[in-house]
Amino acid sequence: MNDFRELAKEKAREVFEQYNLSVPVDLLKLTQNLNISVSEVAFERIDGLKNCDGCIFYKENAIFVDVELSPTRLKFTLANELGHYLLRHQTQEGMYADKKASYRGKDKNNEERAADIFAAELLMPEHEMRKLHSEYVYPTLEIFVKHFLVSVEAMRIRLKEFNLEVYRVK
Ligand SMILES: [Zn+2]
Repeated sequence: MNDFRELAKEKAREVFEQYNLSVPVDLLKLTQNLNISVSEVAFERIDGLKNCDGCIFYKENAIFVDVELSPTRLKFTLANELGHYLLRHQTQEGMYADKKASYRGKDKNNEERAADIFAAELLMPEHEMRKLHSEYVYPTLEIFVKHFLVSVEAMRIRLKEFNLEVYRVK
């Protein structure tokens, strides 16, 4: 099953090994190693990029993320842009711009899906998820969120994807 989903996962695993990453993943260090600059901008003030939360310029090796994003949203957006870059999602304009979720509509194209799969596997690698889960008798959502430093929503989706059960504290 070598479709775009598998390719995106493989690419994330390759990068994780190649750059000796560990969780929580230090994306700023990774972008430095890849020679990609990261800047925060206020997209709402940029014509043509209003309603975006991230974009990457391929030739310039530059990623821009919206200054309003929460730390965990910023992390996922950054990983998503890296996905477009490393999976070589080329466009005529030489850049890839991501609209905010609320402006994107429900239908994602395959490149967007691939970049999200890449981001999820990079930040929450399957083997690390399963390993952590096996270390606890009563694993909780909080344990996972703290370990990987991602949003509760992203982690919920990921746990469900692997059918890993977590317990609620209280
Ligand atoms: Zn994207």
